[in-house]
Amino acid sequence: MKKLNYIILGIIVSILIALYVLFPSAPNNLYIKYFGSKITIDKKDNTSKDVEPVQPNDSPKETDDKEGFEPGPDTPSPTPIEDEKDTIMIEGKLILTDPASLTVLVNKERNLPENYTPNNLVIGDFTKINYVLKQQIDKNRVRIEVLPYLEQLFAKAKADGITIYVSSAYRSYNTQKSIFAWNQSVYGAEKANTISAHAGQSEHQTGLAIDFTSKSVNFDLVERFEQTPEGIWLANNAYKYGFILRYPKNKSNITGYVYEPWHFRFVGQELASEIHKNDLTLEEYFKENSAIAEP
Ligand SMILES: [Zn+2]
Repeated sequence: MKKLNYIILGIIVSILIALYVLFPSAPNNLYIKYFGSKITIDKKDNTSKDVEPVQPNDSPKETDDKEGFEPGPDTPSPTPIEDEKDTIMIEGKLILTDPASLTVLVNKERNLPENYTPNNLVIGDFTKINYVLKQQIDKNRVRIEVLPYLEQLFAKAKADGITIYVSSAYRSYNTQKSIFAWNQSVYGAEKANTISAHAGQSEHQTGLAIDFTSKSVNFDLVERFEQTPEGIWLANNAYKYGFILRYPKNKSNITGYVYEPWHFRFVGQELASEIHKNDLTLEEYFKENSAIAEP
């Protein structure tokens, strides 16, 4: 009986060896089928159960190494690249197709859609943020993403003995239209265009721009704000909280606007640091990045 057992065992071992020789890749195939493809599908296409991943046709593919890393929906892209595809031409005007982007570049060439209103505008706690007018009004509103950074900025300013105020943040398309019309009637069209924006061309419509002021300039928006302790503090510190001085001195030819030491724009901390440390405007930053993107 023992001999028979050895014969049976020998036959089983022989069959296993024969199978391995004939189908050496079987275990790998099984692994890919049950584990490898699952990982691939999770990364690229949650809906498809096909082993071959379906090529997504809505996301532009530029480089292969981009495939490996996809930031989550909560991660804003730290280095967005200006792309002509982010605008469409309507009646001779470039209209932004992604006006809600935290890094959107709005200027005299790049217009916000007439009907664009951020859907998450909020007013901060009056005990944490100083407002010139402590009221529930449009000009005190900012995008909800900006609020925690604004609160931190005010907390640090206060700790440093600096008292700044929010003069004006969000402004609707129609309000901007009225402001421009008023400036035009007083100063003429050409000057009006350098001191105020045409409707659709104001960053204030994004809910990401804030005009700051102080008691030392009678709560006005004036150039001498730059010499006040408040203006100096903002120029040196705002970037730490994600805000850039949007219309710097001697850059009017690039931004299209006169120096505005009071106007700050939220772009996120990483981008703000990059722009502040390299003494750039948002326009210059995007141009440099496009140059890198398109050699
Ligand atoms: Zn402003």
